[in-house]
Amino acid sequence: MTIAFISHPACEAHDLGPVHPESPQRLRAINDHLLATGLDLALRHYDAPQVSRGQLQRVHAASYIDEVFAKAPDDGTVWLDPDTGMMAASLPAALHAAGAAVLATELVLDEKADQAFCSVRPPGHHAERDRAMGFCVFNNLAVGAAHALTEYGVQRLAIVDFDVHHGNGTEQIFRDDARVMMCSTFRHPFYPFSGADTHSERFINVPLAAGSKGEDFRAAVMQQWLPALRAFKPQILYISAGFDAHLADDMGGLSLLESDYYWVTAELKQLMLEVNGLARMISVLEGGYETGALARSVAAHLKGMLDG
Ligand SMILES: [Zn+2]
Repeated sequence: MTIAFISHPACEAHDLGPVHPESPQRLRAINDHLLATGLDLALRHYDAPQVSRGQLQRVHAASYIDEVFAKAPDDGTVWLDPDTGMMAASLPAALHAAGAAVLATELVLDEKADQAFCSVRPPGHHAERDRAMGFCVFNNLAVGAAHALTEYGVQRLAIVDFDVHHGNGTEQIFRDDARVMMCSTFRHPFYPFSGADTHSERFINVPLAAGSKGEDFRAAVMQQWLPALRAFKPQILYISAGFDAHLADDMGGLSLLESDYYWVTAELKQLMLEVNGLARMISVLEGGYETGALARSVAAHLKGMLDG
């Protein structure tokens, strides 16, 4: 039983200043908490490589990649969208963040790890084929998933996304790919105001009203995600692991707790064991801005992978 924990110091250097919620402190809080709880000892640590251009081009337009490289500043901050800034250290951070998902895919599909967690930033699930959005430059999870589809010939790949925001970028990238199923919960109506009207057989989108609690989330998972996943029989499962639906995260407005993240992770692991024999799971950090709740929730999520 091996869980790979993949990160890189470059991901901490991306810093948009003291008022931006997507802060370097997020990764430091996760590391501190894993050390303090001893959970760190159960993980195998890896440095994330930089993603290659070819790997990015599987999910992003060449023109968009060129634009990101051209705009990356040597000093000061440029804004790719009103929320998504880049300073000098941001491009290396984004390249290592996407590279983490590629390494995670290789470790799990080469059976060197059972599961993997990518503790990276900037996050990815709002990034579309040709635009940055909502703190996200490259769609890290999508780059990893495309690596599984292209390099390993995976035929049935599932993505779940429990971030409080809809993963519009991931849905856009894989909307027409019959090999991919995506199951989401997200607050609605809420940024980015997508997802509620694009539910389909392969896109199991479950909007949650403001204030929804763990019991509402669990009902959505049990009644909608798990039956769809069981029928689809994924060979590998990717998780857009955003923890901004936590009660303490006042930007999100939902009321999940650590125990809900533990529960959903253990349920998903059980389902993967049932349908695939191997519980291949690759989790990629998305949101989560109250750093104490974020760190405890990541620990609960990893514990769910260990115990489930
Ligand atoms: Zn979010």
